[in-house]
Amino acid sequence: ARVPLIAGNWKMNLDHLEATYFVQKLAWLLRDAHFDYKHCEIVLFPAFTSLRSVQVLVEADNLRIRYGAQSVSVTSQGAFTGDVSADMLSQLRCSYVIVGHSERRKYHPEDDANIVDQVRAVLAAGMQPILCVGESFEERRQGIELEFAVGQVHDVTRDLNEAEAAALIIAYEPVWAIGTGMVATPQSAQDAARAIRAHMRQAFNDTVANTVRILYGGSVSSQNAAQLIQEADVDGFLVGGASLEVEEFSKIARIT
Ligand code: 13P
Repeated sequence: ARVPLIAGNWKMNLDHLEATYFVQKLAWLLRDAHFDYKHCEIVLFPAFTSLRSVQVLVEADNLRIRYGAQSVSVTSQGAFTGDVSADMLSQLRCSYVIVGHSERRKYHPEDDANIVDQVRAVLAAGMQPILCVGESFEERRQGIELEFAVGQVHDVTRDLNEAEAAALIIAYEPVWAIGTGMVATPQSAQDAARAIRAHMRQAFNDTVANTVRILYGGSVSSQNAAQLIQEADVDGFLVGGASLEVEEFSKIARIT
């Protein structure tokens, strides 16, 4: 069975002092609740500037919280001002890297080719990519949301081999649901997750399809997480706004 994964994508929020406070408090809240990390993985995505602080804390206190980066360079080193390489992240013991988030696709020149290269860079450095896909309001209005999201998965994964595909995590994040308070219904989150899993089965095989975790993201909160996680193909969440407040985030983790 797939272990649910609850991820907090902090985006450009929380400096390293706030991050340190958050991690300590989260660990304390979860310990207090006898949280079982074997049955639910907790992952935080701080800004690059907070990753080292989070690492030091996690290692010093032997915490079972994992962490990763929100993006990565496609090149391994050199004259790329402002970029951070996959090896730099894996040296900080990052487990995951978010790839192709809709905000990156919108504000940075991240096209499919670049996203494929990021996926490869993350895998080559021994980490797991969390590939984000999801339609905008326009595709949903036209009723082509499933084709659109599956198409995005196909465009990025078609040249991967089986082992690479099995290492992926996919986050279905409809753009219209991100930061709007308009959460997808459990049924539409399930429909998208099921369509993506069916695609992975057809493009690769049963093992890949059954291994890949598919997360839902977009206005997840402690109010709606319990219903969403009931769905058979929803294996966890990529939480934005509600991951910035530690009590709220720990509630979502405990619901799951
Ligand atoms: P919100 O939870 O704030 O809608 O953001 C979702 C998201 O983009 C997570 O990556």
